[in-house]
Amino acid sequence: METAVVTNIQGYSIHDGPGIRTVVFLKGCPLRCKWCANPENLSPAPQVGFLQNLCRGCGRCAAACPNGAIVTDGDSHRIDREKCAGRFACAEACYYGALVRYGEELTSGEVYEKARRDKMFYDSSGGGVTFSGGEPLTRPAFVREVAERLRADGISVCVETCGFVPRSAFETVLDTVDFFCYDLKFADSARHRGYTGAPNDRILENARFLVNSGAEVLFRRPLIPGVNDGDGETEATAKFLKSLGAGGANLQLMPYHRMGQAKYAALGCEYELPELDVADPRDTESVREKYESLGVNCTISK
Ligand code: SF4
Ligand code: SF4
Repeated sequence: METAVVTNIQGYSIHDGPGIRTVVFLKGCPLRCKWCANPENLSPAPQVGFLQNLCRGCGRCAAACPNGAIVTDGDSHRIDREKCAGRFACAEACYYGALVRYGEELTSGEVYEKARRDKMFYDSSGGGVTFSGGEPLTRPAFVREVAERLRADGISVCVETCGFVPRSAFETVLDTVDFFCYDLKFADSARHRGYTGAPNDRILENARFLVNSGAEVLFRRPLIPGVNDGDGETEATAKFLKSLGAGGANLQLMPYHRMGQAKYAALGCEYELPELDVADPRDTESVREKYESLGVNCTISK
């Protein structure tokens, strides 16, 4: 049975596909988008997060860590992440909830059992189960094992993907997934590399492969103010989508927000776009209208 490191199995989501859905967040992503709202899902390994505002400086975590990865001294608390093995003895020792677990290795059977519990809500709302992350297709065999069992129960399966995975990952899951939410972050490959750490060629090729395979795909654009919302990007993205024919007709804009920022501090890393404001709804609407004027059906996510 396949396993994967899972950070969360979140019920009652209405933002990750149609109806009421359970979202399974898998750890590990091949991209490093500077605006990423889920930094706890970038590394494939379990990680501990530290919430400074809850810490009372008692030192129990340092005493509990078998690797000596935590040093506390009064108000000072430092985690040496090179030494941390992600086994969470510190989190178990902390009475105050200042140390949180990001990631637990689960079998496909365990995830299936949890994800199917809300079938009644899926049935009444047209919902189902969504695999997200991170990038869920870094673990295609795991996704397939869970999805096969969900589908056998009549539960719809969605995969949210950045597309930057080998073609074989899509081939592994294709016949077990009802639809894909597929991010197109930039049409321009150099800018894609600058903001995500990788070029976009493979992403565009996989998008075309999926559409040509007859998969149902909703393309999505995380809309980052001043970064990928200009006319040049909009026109190039619309051109690419139209080149896909009917399968590329729909685009959803996902306005930039800062909700993940606190987690960067918890992980001891830096948020790289601190100067950005959240998206202005009027600017988002004018980008939406621009896409529509270019022949793309465009909506804005809630
Ligand atoms: S055990 Fe918790 S409260 Fe005590 S020092 Fe560690 S993180 Fe802070
Ligand atoms: S693809 Fe998604 S999870 Fe990966 S770095 Fe980008 S925003 Fe984060």
